[in-house]
Amino acid sequence: MAKTPTLRPGKLFINGEWRESSDGQRRDVINPATNVVVSSIAWATTADVDAAVAAARAAFDSGEWSRLSGRERSRVLMRISQLIRENSDELAYAESVDVGKPITFANIVDVNTAADQYEYVASLAQHLDGATRETPLPAFAFTRREPLGVVGAITPFNFPLILSSSKIAPALAAGNTVVHKPASDTPLTALLMADIFTQAGVPAGVVNVVTGSGSALGDHLVSHPDVNKIAFTGSTEVGQHVASLAGQTLKPVTAELGGNAANIVFADADLEQAIGAVISAFVFNTGQFCMGGPRLLVERPVYETVLGILGQAVPGVPFGDPMNPETVIGPLASQNQFDKVSGIVSGAIARGARVVAGGSAMELNGGFYFQPTVLADLPSEDIAVAEETFGPVLTVEVFDTEEEAIRLANGTPYGLAAGLQTGNIARAHRVSAALDAGIVWVNAWGLLDPAVPFGGVKASGWGREYGPESLEAYTRTKSVVISTL
Ligand code: NAP
Ligand code: MG
Repeated sequence: MAKTPTLRPGKLFINGEWRESSDGQRRDVINPATNVVVSSIAWATTADVDAAVAAARAAFDSGEWSRLSGRERSRVLMRISQLIRENSDELAYAESVDVGKPITFANIVDVNTAADQYEYVASLAQHLDGATRETPLPAFAFTRREPLGVVGAITPFNFPLILSSSKIAPALAAGNTVVHKPASDTPLTALLMADIFTQAGVPAGVVNVVTGSGSALGDHLVSHPDVNKIAFTGSTEVGQHVASLAGQTLKPVTAELGGNAANIVFADADLEQAIGAVISAFVFNTGQFCMGGPRLLVERPVYETVLGILGQAVPGVPFGDPMNPETVIGPLASQNQFDKVSGIVSGAIARGARVVAGGSAMELNGGFYFQPTVLADLPSEDIAVAEETFGPVLTVEVFDTEEEAIRLANGTPYGLAAGLQTGNIARAHRVSAALDAGIVWVNAWGLLDPAVPFGGVKASGWGREYGPESLEAYTRTKSVVISTL
């Protein structure tokens, strides 16, 4: 049997070295499946952020990374991808005890996707081509795609490894350097990745990791004059704050923010396939999935049938200890998340929601477990429907026409994802075009790949990660015009 990986206490990773925070403060890391301390991290100060930015600036200016050819950077990115796969047990274990992720998913989704991302951008790094431009000028004109400089990457608690890779991989591919601040509750894989960067041959100072409080360090990093771009994923509220602060120094920002996507089941859908998509859309990552589908809209002729199937099927989804390889739904990632989800569900039940499945917490090993829950008969304005719950909670509404389904689906400030389940190909085209979201799934949910861009519209944010588009956010175009006279 493979031995259980161990987690050493974390330090800050600055200029290729591990160090304590400037004031020596540390903070515990808690396993949400047991509410037991599993490790600790250094708790950075703004002086540590300054040191990390200075290291990233010096590394960028030295050209040791930024002026390598794309092909040379590509080789290093491929090595990072290989090392992620070679260390998959350790990374998956850390992600699982940090976030409460079922170990099977931590491996096949989180670790694999991170490795895939580095592999994918490794190919893009070799094609950062400029263009020649024909002009009537007495000149030869061409463009160059150059890195931006120092990137500040700020990531949320729910997919630490995937969402840091979705920033650091394209940033590195384009020749930038990085200061990464992971979420306070889930910092562990960011620290393991620092070792992988070093082993892969990323020069000192090119990636720096500062663990600490977003509210204490975030403004400092975002407004730092030596930081050239901010890549943020997190809540809409913090994203708005970050974007307005970045505006003062005119830093470009990518902001992947909250979501509250609708999943529409038409009566002409293959119900068995549709129910599979409906369930995975709201239980995946214990519902802490910005691109999840927590709002189900069902066409009236199959409404009660769908509720009946959900009532039978949802309690059967394997739920419990994330270290059990069969587990699909684990605990929520923190006491905060648990309190928020419990509050929203108990409020909705008190306001008259019909409980189709779940509805309450589950006592297991002292962890933050909340049962997968399906609630029907709530008005669209109820906060359980209208706000991002970020837990394993599905609300179900009924509709009568395609127009009404589109109106309900779009009737949210968010626009990250949406989905529809239908057997009618013409409807699939019509409705997917009408949905106001960055990605639309048809007869599926949650299919994501580093080649396929994702990102939000409306309050779900700015910019796209993944795909060739991801490199655009980490490069700038310079025009060079050389006289031919
Ligand atoms: P959050 O509270 O907004 O935190 C995100 C990150 O921002 C954390 O690292 C946090 O640090 C940091 N932060 C907090 N205050 C800051 C400030 N004033 N300046 C700069 N950074 C600051 O989000 P979360 O609770 O971790 O994650 C859940 C949210 O992320 C949900 O809304 C979800 O929809 C969204 N999300 C979106 C996507 C997407 O792709 N669109 C993907 C995943 C998650 P601390 O941890 O230290 O507070
Ligand atoms: Mg938070």
